[in-house]
Amino acid sequence: MEMKDMNYARFITAVSAARKVSPIRAMTDLLMRSPPSVISLAGGSPNPDTFPFKSASLTLTDGSTLEIKESMMKRALQYSASPGISELISWLKDLQKNLHNPPTMTYSPEKGQMELCITTGSQDGLSKVFEMLINPGDNVLLDSPTYAGTLTALKPLGCNLIGLPTDQHGIIPQALKDILSRWQPIDAAKPERSCPKILYTIPNGGNPTGASLTTERKEEIYQLAQQYDLLIIEDDPYYFLQFNKPWTPSFLSMDVDGRVIRADSMSKILSSGLRLGFLTGPKPLIDRIVLHIQSSTLHTSTFTQIMALQLLQKWGQEGFLKHIDSVIHFYKTQRDAMIGSAEKWLSGLAEWHSPSAGMFLWMKINGISDTHQLIMLKAISNEVLLVPGSAFNLDSEEPSSYVRASYSLSSPEKIDQGLQRLASLIIEERKLSKH
Ligand code: PLP
Repeated sequence: MEMKDMNYARFITAVSAARKVSPIRAMTDLLMRSPPSVISLAGGSPNPDTFPFKSASLTLTDGSTLEIKESMMKRALQYSASPGISELISWLKDLQKNLHNPPTMTYSPEKGQMELCITTGSQDGLSKVFEMLINPGDNVLLDSPTYAGTLTALKPLGCNLIGLPTDQHGIIPQALKDILSRWQPIDAAKPERSCPKILYTIPNGGNPTGASLTTERKEEIYQLAQQYDLLIIEDDPYYFLQFNKPWTPSFLSMDVDGRVIRADSMSKILSSGLRLGFLTGPKPLIDRIVLHIQSSTLHTSTFTQIMALQLLQKWGQEGFLKHIDSVIHFYKTQRDAMIGSAEKWLSGLAEWHSPSAGMFLWMKINGISDTHQLIMLKAISNEVLLVPGSAFNLDSEEPSSYVRASYSLSSPEKIDQGLQRLASLIIEERKLSKH
């Protein structure tokens, strides 16, 4: 793909543009890099000798242990650099290089060189990305339906959400093209103000739809992003939960221009409670995010970063990917169990596509125009919990005939019982509506 020049200033909101380096945080970064001979009377860090924790020993599922010794524990309990601790950043940059080989890796910083920062879960990173890029009244393109957490972050910003039609392979490029044809392809000298500037998508195992974009679709979407000068926000927490290999190339891997911000998450593979995510994207934009971190969390918990780092260093990339394989094996087996039960109980009552990634089965219930009542009242009282499709509609008032079922937590036996209960409810509902 031919490379286009980016003008990052065009995308930045007034709030984000006004962010300045915090002098205290800059000092912390300097301190981190100083040799031991430096006497610091500068930092506002508390003295870790006063902290009640001394060391930690974590037992892994394979029976081995991770020791966080006294000196490391002091570091883990102390303030640290806003972008994340440097060894973890290096480890993750290496991972990104190997998995995505982003063209931007070799660019100069101003041209959009690949940069990475650690966030408190990917949700934290995404909400900061939205704040950096979205002004009230902006048009924003996104999958419809989409992850409810994204909608909660976007809606208060007062932007206009333009839902993109999707099928089991995610966004339909022709539909995106038709929507974009309302505007002129971008003229860098005088961009149309109302033309959308960002496209948000969940490319693999979409939440709620389970949909995954194909390589061809991603290429078409990237080309449209080039034509209309869109930034692509690639929210990919289910990347590591792709059941079939080779994994589909990411938008980051195609990013010749430096127009992709990728959000990764450790939530589905290491732990959701650790709250670890990372953003990868062009340096001018990641630098803005770090300024936001400086004024909000200061940094993601040093303790959880050290915990993850120790594990990743012990494993190496090979061990990490081996672990991922075992996670994939688990979810794939769960998916197969749910599909088997759906075929057993719901054939003729509902329709679905088997997801090739992620944790969700998205089912269209035949003959029911809105599943809200069925799920929120009847299913709950019949002791089966599901999410009604309307929770993921851009306009939550709109009805939805869909239901999201997750195969992450319940055993195959429970999944089977759950779908059996759902089937009886649908049958009952249909009888009622006939009378
Ligand atoms: N994006 C999507 C599509 C998700 O499904 C989730 C969590 O379910 C998140 C982001 C947030 O993940 P994290 O735990 O990394 O904040």
